[in-house]
Parts: sequence; structure tokens; C-alpha cells
Amino acid sequence: MKTEQLECFRRILLEKKEDVEARVEQLKNGDIHTNKDDLYDDVDAASVDTDHNLLFRIRGREAHLIKKIDEALEQIDAGTYGVCAECGEDINIERLKARPVAPLCIACKEEQEKMEKRKGR
Ligand SMILES: [Zn+2]
Repeated sequence: MKTEQLECFRRILLEKKEDVEARVEQLKNGDIHTNKDDLYDDVDAASVDTDHNLLFRIRGREAHLIKKIDEALEQIDAGTYGVCAECGEDINIERLKARPVAPLCIACKEEQEKMEKRKGR
């Protein structure tokens, strides 16, 4: 990949990371009320517990995402960004633009999803 493309993705990834970190910060303050109404149509007695689990799940997901972003940034530094971790082929630029943390090309990703379905996950 060209240096200017790499720099472009570096900017995208850093912005994304800032977004995620801001969201994590909001979660710490317990401020997830913004789209809570969309998530719960019928709130019942178990809602307090559900809130807790939801918060936990979101935090886990954000932490995972930050890790992915860091890995992608390291790959940019190493000059290996945009190469499929599975088959070593270049990942389609359009795919990277849509999902800048994508570690696999589309073919390998589909293969992985098939495998996961077979495992019953
Ligand atoms: Zn691949």
C-alpha cells in the first residue's frame, strides 16, 4: 500500500479510537441513556440486572475494538497494514474503508464465518 494511503488510514483509525474512548468515558459515567429506549421496549423487574450486563457487554466490545485499532496502527507502522492475516493477499481498499480494522480479506472472512457456523457459534 502507498505511504499516503497508509497515512490516510492512520488518521481514520486514530479518529475512530478517539470516538471509542469517548464512548468508554461516557460508560464510566454511567451515561448510556441516549439510546437505552431503543434497546428496551418492555422494561421489567429484571431491568436493573440487564442494565448491568449490557454495560458490561458494551465495555467488553469497546475494549476489543480499541485493541483491534491498536493492532491496525502497529501494522501501519510496520508497513504490513492492509494485508490479509490469513492468506497474505492485499485486502480490498473499499473493504478497509468500510471496516478499517478488518484483519482478513473478504474470501477469508467468509471462510471464517462458515467455520464458525459449523462450530455452532
Ligand atoms: Zn485472505
